[in-house]
Amino acid sequence: MRTCEVAVIGLGLMGSAALHALVRRGADVIGFDPLVVGEARGSSHGSCRIYRRFNFENDAYTELSDAAFAGWRALEAESGKTLLRPSRVLEAGPPGSKMVASSRAAARRKGTITGPTNGAEANAAFPAFRLPDNWDVVVQESGGILMAEAAMRAFREGAAGRIIRANAQMQRTRDGIRVTTQSEEVLAAKVIVAAGPWIAPFIPGLKRHLEVTRQVVGWFTPARPETVRYGEFPIFLVEGRRGMVYGFPDFEGRGVKAACHAHGPIAGDDEWHKLPDDRELDVVSATLAEFLPGAAGPITERDVCLYTNTLKANLRADDGEEFIIDRLPEDNRVIVASPCSGHGAKFASAIGAMLADLALDARTQPPQAFRLDRFSGFAR
Ligand SMILES: Cc1cc2nc3c(=O)[nH]c(=O)nc-3n(C[C@H](O)[C@H](O)[C@H](O)COP(=O)(O)OP(=O)(O)OC[C@H]3O[C@@H](n4cnc5c(N)ncnc54)[C@H](O)[C@@H]3O)c2cc1C
Repeated sequence: MRTCEVAVIGLGLMGSAALHALVRRGADVIGFDPLVVGEARGSSHGSCRIYRRFNFENDAYTELSDAAFAGWRALEAESGKTLLRPSRVLEAGPPGSKMVASSRAAARRKGTITGPTNGAEANAAFPAFRLPDNWDVVVQESGGILMAEAAMRAFREGAAGRIIRANAQMQRTRDGIRVTTQSEEVLAAKVIVAAGPWIAPFIPGLKRHLEVTRQVVGWFTPARPETVRYGEFPIFLVEGRRGMVYGFPDFEGRGVKAACHAHGPIAGDDEWHKLPDDRELDVVSATLAEFLPGAAGPITERDVCLYTNTLKANLRADDGEEFIIDRLPEDNRVIVASPCSGHGAKFASAIGAMLADLALDARTQPPQAFRLDRFSGFAR
């Protein structure tokens, strides 16, 4: 039986970042994933994700954003590829918007805020918008377009020869963690489980704390292409009537990519087959037509993706949607990584390093907010 120091099950953005960090630390690591980069399954596929330095979800994420920023720059230097393309990020909502207020507060703690502060100013600065004049607006200069698939490829490239392209199962034994596929058997001293929407079967008791939802994405032919060009038009997060709609400037000649952040219907972990129809993308089309007429237009491409949403904790209360990154309380050899809830990608370079540290250094502890023992089923 092959042996290794660490096995990584699941090589989406999180698992491939961990694999990469472990290789860089000289660890004897093997990764498992049936998918090759570019296959449209899991939560990390597709060309891009939003990188925000300041995160309305929780001020505590700013530190992780900064660590991730340094991580992306290091991976760019190593791979020679551009992985994080700079872009402003504009957030807008009705007067009193919590989203805008918390991003503003997080940004203020780190320095000055420039740019439009209300709808009228945003419409003047970015003609694609038609926001109500009195809406709240904040623009962060230090955002970016994370090239998701290119990043996963760069992470995996550094680990060639250590990847087994197969579905894996694991069994904890006294001698180690037995990781098996149809044709391979590996005994690992530690295992990182980063299986995205497929994670629950690996970690008994986790299922009731997670909810996997179907998220639909569309590319729209902009009515005024000159107003949505990369570099002149920001990434946007707009609190529409039926949920927050976010999107990107046209940086790859495919039109404006946009989607709704509100959780879609609960999905099975393998529900990929059906692309969204116009009805499913109606919230996005309507929000673009109302608040970003320059970006609105016919749908040219569609995609489906899954969020693995963390539900509210019941022991150490939180608002939900916080990551799960921790050692399994009943078996410290198992490291659990479920950092999604629709906002994990931007942090992957830092989360990969955190997971590698958790596997290699028993003194390392995850941030309190990410620990499993906030759930009664995992109390220490
Ligand atoms: C539509 C959409 C938009 C998003 N936008 C943003 C954004 O703008 N900014 C942001 O920061 N985040 C965003 N996110 C969230 C982000 O993409 C996710 O948090 C991140 O991709 C999660 O990565 P992961 O590696 O945990 O999961 P995944 O990418 O799902 O990886 C899990 C991997 O595990 C593998 N696997 C499963 N079972 C097994 C098994 N038995 N054996 C071996 N391998 C297995 C799968 O093949 C898969 O490759 C978005 C997500 C979606 C869906």
